[in-house]
Amino acid sequence: MVAPRQWVTTLLAAVAFGCLTTGMVAQSTNQNQIIALVGGQLLDGYEAPPIHHAAIVIEGNRIVAVGPASEIDIPPDAEIINTAGKTMMPGMVDAHVHIMILGHGNYADWFPWFEGNDQLVYETSAKQLLAAGVTAGVDLSAPMSSLEFRDRANANEVPGPRLLVSGPWITRYAWDFLPDELTAIVESPDEARDKAITLIDAGVDVIKTWIGITEEDMRAIKSVAAPAGVPIHCHVYEEEVVWAAIRGGCDVLQHAGSGGSVPAYSDELVQHIAMEGIPVVQTISHRIWIYPATLEFPERLYDPDILNSFPPAIRGEVLSSYTKHDFWRRSYFNNTPRQIRNSKKAARQFIEADALMAMGTDTGSPLNFHAESAWREVSALVEMGMSEIEAISASTKVSAQVLGLRDTGTIEPGKLADIIVVDGNPLFNINVLGYVTDVIKDGIIYKRNGVPTWETKSTTTSTSGR
Ligand SMILES: [Zn+2]
Repeated sequence: MVAPRQWVTTLLAAVAFGCLTTGMVAQSTNQNQIIALVGGQLLDGYEAPPIHHAAIVIEGNRIVAVGPASEIDIPPDAEIINTAGKTMMPGMVDAHVHIMILGHGNYADWFPWFEGNDQLVYETSAKQLLAAGVTAGVDLSAPMSSLEFRDRANANEVPGPRLLVSGPWITRYAWDFLPDELTAIVESPDEARDKAITLIDAGVDVIKTWIGITEEDMRAIKSVAAPAGVPIHCHVYEEEVVWAAIRGGCDVLQHAGSGGSVPAYSDELVQHIAMEGIPVVQTISHRIWIYPATLEFPERLYDPDILNSFPPAIRGEVLSSYTKHDFWRRSYFNNTPRQIRNSKKAARQFIEADALMAMGTDTGSPLNFHAESAWREVSALVEMGMSEIEAISASTKVSAQVLGLRDTGTIEPGKLADIIVVDGNPLFNINVLGYVTDVIKDGIIYKRNGVPTWETKSTTTSTSGR
């Protein structure tokens, strides 16, 4: 179902982009570089009491020491980041990301614009996520050009979270305005298996299944994905669809429990998921918190901090998507008021059952900006019943485990240095996760005192040119 012409266009765009960036130097970690974050409260990703007046020492891209500052030897040549009065915690891990979209209000207008601008869009999304404190994530549907971007972000050639990617999703449902290259449409289990093989051979990290996938399709995908060690993330809402996915071997349930078209799941299903430890990524805030938040305070769409994080060309396109039309008339929000009513029960079910829950945002969906999706989701999880420390652990340690990222998600000696600093105490007010002042990923400082380092560098360059 893929139009070869569009693949060629994407390939040419990728080649052209490659030419433009040949001169870029990867921001590699200096193995001798020592950084120490000193003075603030430390949450290490576990559901454990904080360490006050703490210190973290990083050598190269690894954490080498953690504890009360009074007990930690700070090497004399360390670069010191003073975190007094703030909180240090692991970078957040988003288990449901979309780098091909970035909050534009209308998919039908966005995708024609996206085609031909794919690498610029990925780069913008990745920077916004990283600046918001997301240091790792899994992208769940994008054209194959997202694999090239993943490799650049993971090599620190471009700022961005550690990325896992699915490439195109496998589905039985064709949606008119979606570009062909982000959809792998199948009509039988055999076709589903063949598509999965093609994706795995091309190097995807996970398989994403979307609407219409049957239990038999899922089994066929699983028969090739499991031996290759590639997990299946499944877009599921209705109870019978969730059961079919589970029986077929789905590894991670995406969207389940976000209050979609069913008011709530049966106790039998919720208990089964909790008892079996099947990971759930609810993505509760993407419609049912974003929508009322925007009705109450439409000014959020004009936040200069968010708007300025878009390159001018994209900023204009995003702004026009909600200034041309009232956002509540967008088809994406057609059933949202009913979903909000349903969500009162649904969003609490898995939390009350103590299911294995990772944090995922569906970031980039309409009005769900990468600059704030993570804190809004964590905040929603707290409002629905998680304690603050539980929600922080779900967003760091648990999400990393669910994604198979064993070397990140907690702050302890030996782990990768993926650390953020937030201004305030998230155990008192979880919304301070929206005030990320410093970001370190892979031992590289990407944000310092509230300013992304790529912005500092471009300012320095333009000033020195005068
Ligand atoms: Zn999604």
